Amino acid sequence: MPDNTLDDLFAHNRAWSAQMERDRPGFFTGLVKQQTPKYMWIGCSDSRVPANQITGLDPGEVFVHRNVANIVVHSDLNALSAIQFAVDMLKVEHIMVVGHYGCGGVKAALDGIRVGLADNWIRHIQDVRDRHHVMLESLPEEVRADALCELNVAEQVVNVAVSTVMVDAWSRGQKVTIHGWAFGVHDGLLQDLQMSVDGSKSLDAIYKAAVQRIRYKWSKPGEALTITPRPKAEGTLSQPAALDGSTEPASPAA
Ligand SMILES: [Zn+2]
Repeated sequence: MPDNTLDDLFAHNRAWSAQMERDRPGFFTGLVKQQTPKYMWIGCSDSRVPANQITGLDPGEVFVHRNVANIVVHSDLNALSAIQFAVDMLKVEHIMVVGHYGCGGVKAALDGIRVGLADNWIRHIQDVRDRHHVMLESLPEEVRADALCELNVAEQVVNVAVSTVMVDAWSRGQKVTIHGWAFGVHDGLLQDLQMSVDGSKSLDAIYKAAVQRIRYKWSKPGEALTITPRPKAEGTLSQPAALDGSTEPASPAA
């Protein structure tokens, strides 16, 4: 694997294409007609976080936008255009903003490491760091990068939610839900940060509850790497009391 040449990549591609066609005859001709993904993935460019493989989705099933540290900036025409196309044209039902633990961009932001031109991009995560510096400094040093990874996801979910694309979509009654997830490069597992936003509830309350959960979770690092189960239904598991706008942390399972 590590010594793949470019020729190897083409060889693998031909083998993959042939295998797909054997397993599912007509797969590619079906794709030519249209793409109808239900999902949009906004993730980090990191090579260890491939959207399709992680989620078991086929070509045609997830519309992907990736950049360094999964940031959605209000004036980033690239990200906004991708979101607009996904929502207005493809009618995706779910947009997941996916951060990942061990993110180089997040670490650089946390430690103030200069990496070059990208410093200007990473500055957006430093804004997140600075906004939450009291919380971050209260946490054990070894978990701060992971906490900032999750805080960054929470902020970017908000940035997607307040975009004109989403405001307009919700105002015309379109059903689209934004989710905040984090991926563990160390175990290959996705965590649902349980801050799903569908335009029907107070964004501010959802955001505050998510931030409180993150603080609670990482202030007890021994519990931090346990898997957070997805809530099965309204009111089960850890539907946070804080969704009503209070600042109490949700249950420990969150
Ligand atoms: Zn990353």
